Amino acid sequence: MTNTAHEPDLAGQGVSVVVPCYNEADNVEDAYRQVVAEFGDHDVEFVFVDDGSTDGTLPIVRRLAAADPRVRYLSFTRNFGFEAAFSAGYRYASKPWVLHIDADVQFPVAEAHKLVAASAGQDAVFGVRETRHDPFVRRAGARAYHLVARRLLGIEIPPGATTFRLVRTELARRIVDLRLGTPYFLATVPRLTNRYTTVAVEHRARARGSSKLNLRWLVGHAMGLFVGFSNRLASVAALVALVAAGLALVAALGGVTGLLDPVGGVTVLLLLLVPLLAALAVTVRYVVAVGSGQPRPALYYVRESNIDVEPADLLLTTAALEPVGTGGRAR
Ligand code: UDP
Ligand code: MG
Repeated sequence: MTNTAHEPDLAGQGVSVVVPCYNEADNVEDAYRQVVAEFGDHDVEFVFVDDGSTDGTLPIVRRLAAADPRVRYLSFTRNFGFEAAFSAGYRYASKPWVLHIDADVQFPVAEAHKLVAASAGQDAVFGVRETRHDPFVRRAGARAYHLVARRLLGIEIPPGATTFRLVRTELARRIVDLRLGTPYFLATVPRLTNRYTTVAVEHRARARGSSKLNLRWLVGHAMGLFVGFSNRLASVAALVALVAAGLALVAALGGVTGLLDPVGGVTVLLLLLVPLLAALAVTVRYVVAVGSGQPRPALYYVRESNIDVEPADLLLTTAALEPVGTGGRAR
């Protein structure tokens, strides 16, 4: 940080700024500049992760890397998703602390000093939006998500925590290396340590480009949390199925013995199909989440990097992947 008064909180240790980028050509350079303005005279490195962008993101990142030795980057073979992108960044961070910033800098980098100031004695500090500047649907959805996760399912996630966070690299890497079936950083931190906290930070509307997280992804991600970190949904589904099956039996007996008229009996049976199918759907989701014993596919594959990437993280290791005349390397 430019403000050396904050350094004792990180015990003077370096920071890896991890920036996941998917089609952020309009934003990466501004993000880079904001970080340099804030951390310019600090021990800092960048880890840009190009998540299979199809716009000009990668060439810009290459250019930044060619001009500034503090810029390290990974570029994926395709779009693997937000969680994969930041996980790779955490995996290859080399400084003791990871500062996660999104490429659109909806959390201004200048707010990072609040995370740093709260970091003494902590393993992770999460930014919480004072006022969220996102569309209504997102804000309402997030509220429902936190309500379901924390109150109904009893999943411990730091209240209001976002991806704007400062985490000890060892902890971040430990979580990535767990290779959970439903990777979920926010919910995993409290399972590993109680030394985490939250701090209020400013949030802005996206200035350029549009959100890269669509509704389908958000719903799938939430379900991954609900079934991956709690058994309560499964228990409720089992109970619902049991009760519905019991009632169906009574309705069927009623029909057979003539105590219930046939139309009423069929109606009751049809109505009972709804909770039964719902219970089945939840059960199937658990089976999918837990997996069928098949080896899990890798979370991501790297095509190009100026970092020494583990061979297992490369899809192809042939020289044919070397970008021509770009200065980037695939190793
Ligand atoms: N992102 C990514 N891969 C994806 C989707 C998003 O690396 O498949 C990046 C994106 O470029 C941004 C960050 O993840 O830097 C957060 O995405 P976004 O700002 O679109 O999310 P939102 O602010 O709408 O939650
Ligand atoms: Mg954003």
